Order: sequence, then C-alpha cells, then structure tokens
Amino acid sequence: MISNSTKPGEFAFIAALAKQAAHTPEALGLGDDGAVLWLGDGRKLVLVADMLQAGVHTMKGASAAQIASKALRTNLSDLAAMGAEPAFYLSTICWPGAPDEHEMSILVETLENEQKQFNLSLIGGDTICGQGPLTISMTVLGWASGPLLRRVGAQIGDDVWVSGIIGDGWLGLGVAQGNITSLDTNDADYLLGRYEYPEPRLALGKRLAPLAHCALDVSDGLIADAKHLARAGDCCLHLDYEHIPLSNAARHWLSVQNNQKTAINALMENGDDYELLFTAAVDQGQRIDEISHDLGLDLTRIGRVIKGQGVMLGTPDGAVQPAKHSGFTHF
Ligand code: ADP
Ligand code: MG
Repeated sequence: MISNSTKPGEFAFIAALAKQAAHTPEALGLGDDGAVLWLGDGRKLVLVADMLQAGVHTMKGASAAQIASKALRTNLSDLAAMGAEPAFYLSTICWPGAPDEHEMSILVETLENEQKQFNLSLIGGDTICGQGPLTISMTVLGWASGPLLRRVGAQIGDDVWVSGIIGDGWLGLGVAQGNITSLDTNDADYLLGRYEYPEPRLALGKRLAPLAHCALDVSDGLIADAKHLARAGDCCLHLDYEHIPLSNAARHWLSVQNNQKTAINALMENGDDYELLFTAAVDQGQRIDEISHDLGLDLTRIGRVIKGQGVMLGTPDGAVQPAKHSGFTHF
C-alpha cells in the first residue's frame, strides 16, 4: 500500500517505489536527481530521466522541437546537479497523431543543434503514435569524474547558495498563458525564453562537485527543493527573502504587485528555474566567488543551514516563519 489517503501524492509514490522496488545502491534510494553506476575502473556513469508533455510542462501548442529541447535541458540540469558531464541520450517520443514531414525535420534539426551545444550523442529511443498530447521522455547518461554531488550532506553552519536567478521560469509561464500582461516586450520575451529554454548549469555542477556539501537543481520551486536538501541532510535551511536573486524583469513585475511578500513567495514557490541550490562550508565563500567570476554566472548566498527541519524564511522586517508551501507536484 502506498498510503491510506485517497490522494497519496507524487512523493509518496516515489517513496513507495524506493522502499519496495529500488533496493540496489545504484538507485541512491530514489532520493537524488539521478542514479549512478560505479564501473569499477573509477568512472561513474550518472543516469537521469525526465518526461515532458505538451500542456503540462510547455504550452499546449508547443512544437515537438520545443518540447524535446526542454526535455533535454531539464535532464541536463539533473546531470549538472550531480556534477556529471553529458555523454549520451535516448529519446522516446509519443506523437498525438502522424506527424508531418516539416515537424519531424525541425525536431531532428533541433536535436542535432542541442546535442552539439551540450556535447552529447543520441544512442537510441522509441517512437510511437498515441492518443494523448505530444509527450517526450529523455534518458541522459553522463560521466562524473570527480566526487559525486548528492542531495545528502548539508552541514550545520553551511552557507546556502543558489545559481543565477529565481522566479523567471514561473513568470515566463505566466507570460505564455497570457496571465502577465503588465510587462514590456523585452521583459516578456526574456521571461518566455527562460521558461522555454532553461540553461543547464553543467559547468557549475562540475566545479562544485569537489567543494559543495550537497546540491540539487531547482525544478519544483526553490522552497520545495530546499526542503529536499533539508530532509536529506536532517537539518533546516534558513533562507532570507531579501537575498533571493531576481531578474530586472521580475523586479518590474514585482513593482506592480500589491502584496510584495505574497509576490516574492510566489517566485520562491513555483517551478521551472533549473538553477542549482547547494550548501558549502563558510570558508569556501571565496572559491565560490571565483567560480562565479570564471563562469560569468551569479552565485548568491541566500541563507544558512541550521539545526531543525524543513525551511525557515527570514523576512526583511526580522520575522522568521516556517515555509509551508510544498511546491509543484504532479498529483
Ligand atoms: P527531478 O525533479 O530532479 O527530476 P523527481 O522529483 O522527478 O526529480 O524524482 C525524484 C527521484 O525519484 C529521482 O531519483 C527519480 O529518478 C525518481 N523517480 C521519479 N519517478 C520515478 C519512477 N516512476 N520510477 C522510478 N524512479 C522515479
Ligand atoms: Mg532535479
């Protein structure tokens, strides 16, 4: 039995799979961003899988090329979270009806370009025509040459860091859905791009592997994913509202919101950021700043690891409150 509740939820389902079906060390208890095979010659092969469906992870009318590109990038983000470099992938495509020649050729061209950009090769997959919306699943394999970045390992006293910018993915979805209309074309286009083409932080993951204590990629919302790190490390992540890195476009959006606290909460509670959240010892701060400089990527200290459980939010007025929202789940 998964649960007595009528609504067991996505994570209860994964926990049941972990308990009853995923017993080998390679599964990492289904508690990480991927699985790992130790090949015996010192090499580690990291495996990740992600499935995207039109209307769920992209707009309903998204093309196969757009969905495939995002599916590849979200998988690469999971690889980045484990400090691995991409090598191969398999793509599984369920078309909603027989695709036309043009759609197929754009998809192939897109995959050709994406795999050049991220340095990996297609090695297999499956193609069917189904009855639901366009659905694409990718399985990506990558090498971790150094230590493996895991979700476990946060230490009391660590700094909590996040890469890039939080909240753009969700705002981009709002733009795509026509729910956010207050922004100018530049801001709207920028946010849409962030939603449709997330940038996997592969170079960062590789540089962090030897020095961060734990990491994951933020896909379901900053707070929900911070809770995963807290649970894995048996600790509490104390995050500060005022340090959450936001884009200019997000600030423009914030400036017309009535309740700032609710609005910033929404940016922290919603998904599709694909940034890396990690913790590291305080004395690694200078090295992390150097990595940020080398990669031309903002890395922001957004809090610290304290005793306790879950996520606490420190507000600018000095109040501290437990973060209640659990982020995006599919059911
Ligand atoms: P992410 O958001 O990083 O892609 P998920 O929340 O989808 O991660 O999954 C968390 C963990 O559960 C991962 O280790 C993933 O491999 C595993 N997982 C999710 N769904 C399944 C499934 N249907 N079968 C086996 N493992 C799963
Ligand atoms: Mg992930």
